[in-house]
Amino acid sequence: QQKRFVDLRDKPATSLDGETVSLKMNAGLMADLPSLEGSGAEGVGLFRTELQFLVRSNVPRRGELAALYARVLDAAGGKPVVFRTLDIGSDKVLPYMKPTEEPNPALGWRAIRVGLDKPGVMRMQLQALIRAAAGRDLTVMFPFIAQYDEFRDAKEIFQRELARERHMGHILPTNVQVGAMLETPSLAFAPRQFFHEADFISIGGNDLKQFFFAADRENERVRRRYDTLNTSFLNIIDLVIQRCDEAGTPVSFCGEDAGRPVEAVCFAALGMRQLSMRAASIGPVKHLIRRTDLGELKQVIDEARSSSEQSVRGPVMDYLFRR
Ligand code: PEP
Ligand code: MG
Repeated sequence: QQKRFVDLRDKPATSLDGETVSLKMNAGLMADLPSLEGSGAEGVGLFRTELQFLVRSNVPRRGELAALYARVLDAAGGKPVVFRTLDIGSDKVLPYMKPTEEPNPALGWRAIRVGLDKPGVMRMQLQALIRAAAGRDLTVMFPFIAQYDEFRDAKEIFQRELARERHMGHILPTNVQVGAMLETPSLAFAPRQFFHEADFISIGGNDLKQFFFAADRENERVRRRYDTLNTSFLNIIDLVIQRCDEAGTPVSFCGEDAGRPVEAVCFAALGMRQLSMRAASIGPVKHLIRRTDLGELKQVIDEARSSSEQSVRGPVMDYLFRR
């Protein structure tokens, strides 16, 4: 089994009907980077920068962060890395941050909300990223955007930092991409302008699913209650893909479900051409994509959706494994 995946390392994730899906890996610590080579991932689709903050007992300095991000880019050896700005609050509590008493932390003051209300740390992080990427590509993604103006404001802060670095005479990154994570259902219904303004959009399926079904991702009693292949959930994925396509904006999926082969081929059948997952999932996902006709699978999904099925999983499993 493992050997089969190793043999696939340098092969593309191309389906039987000739559609190629880009598979990237999720990371958060330097220690994750060697997997880039071993897994055959095309880059890091989600670098969770808060992990670096979580393993320390004090706020890192800008210089330290810049050195660290530069090492991440070095280790990636020219493959793209999507740096997500700090996603703290809720399940990710910094030991040196004054804990805020909130009745419902998952719905509370977290991620970009902190970044916009108290921009000091986010600005410092953006400066570190800009310096780390001097003379090379930089891709930044803002987490937990719930409405268009949050993205616009975050991007404006980033642009101000770029201008400031330029003014100070620092060498800037060559090509800069700024994207948004779509993790709340509201953003799927954002004004068209949002989809045009983002350089790319990445669906954070862990949070999107939590908020779509109102089912706490941390609560064992409910976290597996609703199927990712539930037709309602696929409808919102569909909507996001369609709105991104209309705007010509690349869309990816970077939640845990991207690393589950059956879910991954279903997303690909709906038109998703980029997935980001833990490194160990790249082989199994690639294997299944390579033996699936995505066009046919799309028909199976659509038929199941037009019946009264609550989830397309049954028909999809029949099609994939019992044909
Ligand atoms: C997600 O929500 O799907 C995601 C990728 O981010 P995190 O799991 O870090 O919240
Ligand atoms: Mg998330």
